[in-house]
Amino acid sequence: MSLRFILRRDFACVLKSSAFYFRNFHKFIGRMKHVKLSQTADLMPTLGLGTWQASPEVIESTVYKALDLGYRHIDTAFNYNNEEAIGNAIKKWIDDGKGTRKDLFITTKLPHVGNRASDVKKFLDLQLKRLQMDYVDLYLIHVPFGFHCDAETLTPVVNSNGEYDLDLDTDHVSTWKVMECCQKEGLIRNLGLSNFNEAQIEKIIDESTVKPQVLQVELHAYFQQMDLRKFCSDHDIVVTAYAPLGSPGAKDHFVNKYNYSPDAFPDLLGHPEVNEIAKSHEKTPAQILLRYLVQQSVVVIPKSTSDKRLKENASLYDFELTPYEINKLKKLDRGEDGRIFNFLFWKGVENHPEYPFKFLTLAADTK
Ligand code: NAP
Repeated sequence: MSLRFILRRDFACVLKSSAFYFRNFHKFIGRMKHVKLSQTADLMPTLGLGTWQASPEVIESTVYKALDLGYRHIDTAFNYNNEEAIGNAIKKWIDDGKGTRKDLFITTKLPHVGNRASDVKKFLDLQLKRLQMDYVDLYLIHVPFGFHCDAETLTPVVNSNGEYDLDLDTDHVSTWKVMECCQKEGLIRNLGLSNFNEAQIEKIIDESTVKPQVLQVELHAYFQQMDLRKFCSDHDIVVTAYAPLGSPGAKDHFVNKYNYSPDAFPDLLGHPEVNEIAKSHEKTPAQILLRYLVQQSVVVIPKSTSDKRLKENASLYDFELTPYEINKLKKLDRGEDGRIFNFLFWKGVENHPEYPFKFLTLAADTK
């Protein structure tokens, strides 16, 4: 075999495989922009905009800007007190002829004070009215426990000792069945859960007709939830990561409002290995943390109200982490020690029969 023949053959091989790579690289990158929900086949964008701690005044212009930048997925909740402002922004964006409702994926959540069958419709109707929409794409039960509701303010009743007034009758299955009816009526496209543990999810799977499509939980490099993710994958449940950047804004909130120690909060964005990987890709630490999750088909909903960071967080699909880098980031997992949101700031919540992280309080009791 002549050298020229070998060179020509190898060159053809390289050309062929690069063509294959580029064809499939774009397909792969494109595919990661959405995950398909198993029951409705709806496409859920893997990037959404988080809106916790964003005031109505600020979030209205932020959402409009985010939509202009290409965000198509917005995550809100009754408890964030900003559904109306988000509704205004979306309405204006549609009225301005920039897109249609069908282009968007809107998630909101049934609050802890409405976590009972008899209240689902009341809250959902109010939330749709505030959002100025006929339906939401995803409705989640925000937390598995319930509090009694002050009928006037729609906030939790707090007892004179500062403890939250627990609704001990919380029953997920009956609440879920009303959500199924709302889905049949066309008010909700997909049903899901947030902050539920495996046993609680399994009970709904066993006793319902419509299976949960999405689980939204705290998930970031310090708290990777591998077992729960495997469980979800086995049940065709898409996982959405909240606090994907380690929720840097939570620090001030918890320190000021609940007197937490500032040391309790991790600085994930400042981690040297995250920064090193960022440098090698000419990306920012935030982009690395988000890309790490998206590349594993986890949906991310970083919150930002800054123009610069909105843009930055959306630029995730033009690069790829290597298996070596993925492996390095996997090693940052601190297991339960990495958890930021345990809800113990709601005094007495651990005594609710459906408090999802009982093992945390049991461990503290045995110390
Ligand atoms: P996060 O998205 O991890 O972090 C948001 C914080 O990081 C904000 O303070 C933001 O400040 C800052 N930030 C954003 N992009 C950045 C960047 N590129 N570089 C540096 N800093 C950046 O935390 P999160 O808001 O707690 O979680 C995300 C969303 O998940 C929430 O907004 C909410 O929608 C949802 N969530 C759900 C639950 C639940 O119980 N289901 C609980 C918590 C959160 P700026 O705004 O100034 O950029």
